[in-house]
Amino acid sequence: MFLEGKKIVVMGVANNKSIAWGCAKAMKDQGATLIYTYQNERMEKQLAKLAEPEDLLIECDVASDESIHQAFLTIESRVGKIDGLVHAIAYSKKEELDGNVSDISRDGYALAQDISAYSLLAVAKAAKPLFNEGAGIVTLSYMGSVRAIPNYNVMGIAKAALEATVRYLAAEMAHVGVHVNAISAGAIKTLAVSGVAGYKDLIKESNSRTADGKGVTIEEVGQTAAFLVSPLATGVIGDVIYVDKGVHLT
Ligand code: NAD
Repeated sequence: MFLEGKKIVVMGVANNKSIAWGCAKAMKDQGATLIYTYQNERMEKQLAKLAEPEDLLIECDVASDESIHQAFLTIESRVGKIDGLVHAIAYSKKEELDGNVSDISRDGYALAQDISAYSLLAVAKAAKPLFNEGAGIVTLSYMGSVRAIPNYNVMGIAKAALEATVRYLAAEMAHVGVHVNAISAGAIKTLAVSGVAGYKDLIKESNSRTADGKGVTIEEVGQTAAFLVSPLATGVIGDVIYVDKGVHLT
């Protein structure tokens, strides 16, 4: 129970297929107390079906600085200090996840960067005064940051920015005793991935390339996230850990 007594903020549970939900389950298994944030009322309804009565549910739309500010003020007033944060958030317009990368619109590019990469900085800034020594932040990336994956397009570019953001943020936050890292997860069928044109082929291809022929699960990603937010991982700083059953090797 290496998260016993630890309070962890989990951002990005849309439903029980979400990677954030895999993280939440693994962290609960290790004794953590969870604070969930949700994007909007629709997500709140989904989350309320999954959360336990003792869990705290707080609205946080990362497109809005005010929403982020209010969310962390509420967290501070309700639970005080925190020990970790999971950022499992990304968004792009569907039309940018199809066809030629040279057709990405200026607006679509900016939006994907804003929600999928910049938001990590905005959230870290709001959460910074709340972190206990030894706390950890983990975000979710994908191999499309370093390879040209068909149709992943604008999100691959946003993930490259996210991974660079992790390195810069990690260098800063290490000074206040907070370790920041990313997990590069394998392809998993979730709401977000269904926005990518041909996502079924992407998942099929990915699963066929795992070392054991089986796709990685949200539970496996969650177990690594639980370790990475914990004090067991204070020596891991600014890294991108692949949790994809070896797909990136082949
Ligand atoms: P998901 O759809 O379950 O989760 C995405 C979450 O982002 C949702 O909860 C949604 O509400 C949230 N979100 C979007 N815009 C937001 C906003 N403005 N404010 C607050 N929240 C917002 O999908 P997922 O696959 O679990 O995605 C979680 C993370 O994992 C994403 O960063 C995704 O890119 C990453 N990832 C996914 C895969 C995969 O194959 N599914 C692989 C690698 C990385």
